[in-house]
Amino acid sequence: MSPARAEIVVDLAALRHNVALLRERVGVAMMTVVKADGYGHGMVESARAAREAGAAWLGVATLDEALSLRAAGDTGRVLCWLTVPGEEYAAGLAADVDLTAYSLAELDEVAAAVRATGTPARLQLKIDTGLSRGGATRADWPALVAAARDGERDGLWRVTGIWSHLSSSDEPDDPANDQQEAAFREALAVAESAGLAPEVRHLANSAAALLRPSARFDLVRCGIASYGLDPAPGHTPDLGLVPVMTVRARLAMVKELAPGDAVSYGHTWTAPAPTTVGLVPLGYGDGVLRSASGRAEVLVAGRRRPLRGRVCMDQVVVDLDGDEPAVGAEVELFGTGRDGGPTAQDWAEACGTISYEVVSRIGGSRVPRRHVDSAADGGSAR
Ligand SMILES: *Cc1c(COP(=O)(O)O)cnc(C)c1O
Repeated sequence: MSPARAEIVVDLAALRHNVALLRERVGVAMMTVVKADGYGHGMVESARAAREAGAAWLGVATLDEALSLRAAGDTGRVLCWLTVPGEEYAAGLAADVDLTAYSLAELDEVAAAVRATGTPARLQLKIDTGLSRGGATRADWPALVAAARDGERDGLWRVTGIWSHLSSSDEPDDPANDQQEAAFREALAVAESAGLAPEVRHLANSAAALLRPSARFDLVRCGIASYGLDPAPGHTPDLGLVPVMTVRARLAMVKELAPGDAVSYGHTWTAPAPTTVGLVPLGYGDGVLRSASGRAEVLVAGRRRPLRGRVCMDQVVVDLDGDEPAVGAEVELFGTGRDGGPTAQDWAEACGTISYEVVSRIGGSRVPRRHVDSAADGGSAR
């Protein structure tokens, strides 16, 4: 892989800055969510930086992700929350991972692994308070809690946490937030009256951690804000979060177009006047969203410039508006925004998606990812 063509630069100093800032802001324990390869930033590197900035917990979706963190040497608390029947629970117990159970069937599987290995589990219970995704329904909650308490008495596990997840935290005025928080408080009361005394109760992701103090409980689970992206565009006050990822490429070619020359597959854009265009050697095969076609902008030679025509598998064309930067000139797709270039949030708005998708999709086997530390490198993320 040649960084000459394109690269993803991840600034770990920015990640540490964001995690520390979030911690200070919320005033409760921090879980940094590093699932999906750290939202595209590198799971292990992001996890290390988050720990350095004081994240007491790391959160991942799958048990495999949790085991990878352990294999990389992480020894702190790690929670995972998405398992299927036949999961390698024994490995999870040996690795001292906090597991999440949604159902009695999962409790049975964990119990079998505990009996087989002699290693008690750390178990968290998830209640579905209205997202209708993972977690026990409110109808099934009392039975789950009772069985979990029985298992705790039998020494199979300790119930370390009770938690839920919000549907609409990026829309702070949505009544679903109040309803879900109320349902969560009820579920906690049911669990407590059954005799459970969890170490951590948690409900908030990044948006709720910042915008809904009542949802902070003992721990917040921050993903997107840790990577410096706005969890609730239009609602979040400017906190000084710094985007952690910058995506760069080099122009592969520069050429002149005459009026009437049409660009890329399907000829969806035709030059109305003479112009120059540059060939950017990244495409949807590298995770550049195809919906960016004709919509997103990139930074070339100090100016934001629009993409023209369709994003192809390996390349896309940028309108240089008569300028003729040298072949090999730098193209910044998105970054911190401090240099006048677009951010992942700008791309999300151009593409009709969310910044989460922009950063977690970019990259792949052809694009090298480089971790830098702008604090150690003297303030430059290059
Ligand atoms: C991904 C995820 C988070 C993090 O959400 P952000 O909006 O990125 O902060 C928190 N909790 C759960 C259960 C998740 O799946």
